[in-house]
Amino acid sequence: MDLIDPELQRYCEEHSVPESQLLKKLSRDTMANVMMPRMLSGHIQGRILSMISRMIKPKLILEIGTYTGYSAICLAEGLQQEGKLITIDINEELENKVKTYFKEAGLTEKIDYRIGLAADIIPGLPGPFDLVFIDADKQNNPIYFDLVIDKVPVGGFIMVDNVLWSGKVVQPNPDKDTRNVLAFNDKVHHDPRVENILLPVRDGISLMQKVRD
Ligand code: SAH
Ligand code: CA
Repeated sequence: MDLIDPELQRYCEEHSVPESQLLKKLSRDTMANVMMPRMLSGHIQGRILSMISRMIKPKLILEIGTYTGYSAICLAEGLQQEGKLITIDINEELENKVKTYFKEAGLTEKIDYRIGLAADIIPGLPGPFDLVFIDADKQNNPIYFDLVIDKVPVGGFIMVDNVLWSGKVVQPNPDKDTRNVLAFNDKVHHDPRVENILLPVRDGISLMQKVRD
């Protein structure tokens, strides 16, 4: 289910800053050569991630779910001069492609790309994370949130992708995956440590700021 009328979507794209040539190439390469290309953030969501990152000017970003590196490159655009982005993915098959694009983007020094299970890697990362983007296996979202929340300082931000789950969050008789998404959205919404806004962007992005410990 498209959350926005395709014609409106096109209008928004035509009236938003375009993707860089590199991101366009990465997007096309992903569509042509990688499984499940729908997972890539894409033009508008990518520009939103970039703009939000540039507003925050993070020193350290954590991304869970690299895929082909599109969102990592967008998020890295807002890093401080000496800032770093750590991105984690379990899929080692994409490693060479991702590294090639990070290199072409001039981000090899700024991006710490880790291959492995996010739940194994995150406990060993000290933080503090000014911005976390959670976009991996959705059933583990509550675990990722719990693993990162104490490493985000008050004032820091967490974003979680695909929280509208193709619109299934409001449909009757939700399946198991949808029930997981619903439970996670409730959890975040009722957690007094964060203030959240569920943005109806693409497949839904939960944008939250930590407001207390
Ligand atoms: N953030 C990317 C899309 C991520 S797609 C973008 O916007 O362009 C989700 C990714 O999560 C996939 O590449 C998948 O391999 C990864 N993933 C799934 N389960 C994982 C896990 N347990 N640990 C780390 N990565 C995982
Ligand atoms: Ca996603």
